[in-house]
Amino acid sequence: MKTFNYHVAKDSKEASKLSSSNSAFLAGGMTSIPSLKLGLATYKDIIDIKHIKKLSGIKVSNKTVTIGATTKHAEVASSKEVQKAIPSLAKLAGGIGDAQVRNRGTVGGSIANNDPSACYPSACMALNAIIHTNERKIEASKFFKGMFETALKKGELIESVEFQIPEKSNYQKHPNPASRYAIVGVYLAKHKKEVNVAITGAKASVYVDKDISKALSNNFSISAINNMKINSSEMNSDIHASGEYRGSLVLTYTKKAIEAC
Ligand SMILES: Cc1cc2nc3c(=O)[nH]c(=O)nc-3n(C[C@H](O)[C@H](O)[C@H](O)COP(=O)(O)OP(=O)(O)OC[C@H]3O[C@@H](n4cnc5c(N)ncnc54)[C@H](O)[C@@H]3O)c2cc1C
Repeated sequence: MKTFNYHVAKDSKEASKLSSSNSAFLAGGMTSIPSLKLGLATYKDIIDIKHIKKLSGIKVSNKTVTIGATTKHAEVASSKEVQKAIPSLAKLAGGIGDAQVRNRGTVGGSIANNDPSACYPSACMALNAIIHTNERKIEASKFFKGMFETALKKGELIESVEFQIPEKSNYQKHPNPASRYAIVGVYLAKHKKEVNVAITGAKASVYVDKDISKALSNNFSISAINNMKINSSEMNSDIHASGEYRGSLVLTYTKKAIEAC
């Protein structure tokens, strides 16, 4: 591991100011530390944001659930308020990795990293989330740009994520048996006016399947998608699953999610 400067930021302003062309924020360190150790990344400056109080916590209103960026997956999973307002979000958090990962990994780190197999990006897309940063508000549909790529600018810090409370929702994941990352994950959310079906694990980045979402917006039942064909030509193919298999998982897990709603 290469040496780096370690900084502890007291607030968002300081964290952003300390960032440089070759720096990373340290939330739970679940991606950044292994990346450093394995030599996949080198940073000149590591800026610890864990002690910024404003970045942690959960707030629930009539319409939204807002989760601070450094809130850990275990806190979301065990929150009675989240379990009541958006049970599928608590379930998603409780199914991430293992106990160690859930007790260190954070919402902000997960979405800033935008791993193609991460669970939270699909919740953001399906639940019309707004990403609040130290500079602006970004709609989830404009946030996830591509594999490990987001709309964040250098030094821009996620402060919280605001999820819209749906009428019904469910998250179904076909997990990698070792890491629990999604080989395919389907987050289905039925809002008053539309249904969003967001898919993770299948392509280079999370996406909303427009055809499935439209069909379910018109008729919220399995019969609406029974004869649907999934185009798997752009889907990931690796040692875990072929693109074709991932395509079939998208449909199978969407049906499971409808059943579970
Ligand atoms: C073994 C293992 C299994 C896992 N399984 C799953 C799984 O099943 N599902 C799943 O969704 N995820 C999974 N993860 C990912 C995990 O949930 C973490 O959320 C993810 O690794 C990011 O870690 P972190 O939150 O500690 O962020 P860090 O590692 O501290 O940071 C990661 C990156 O995000 C940036 N960052 C962090 N916080 C912010 C912020 N507030 N604003 C801007 N940028 C920020 C940092 O600069 C860095 O580049 C797994 C990870 C491991 C190691």
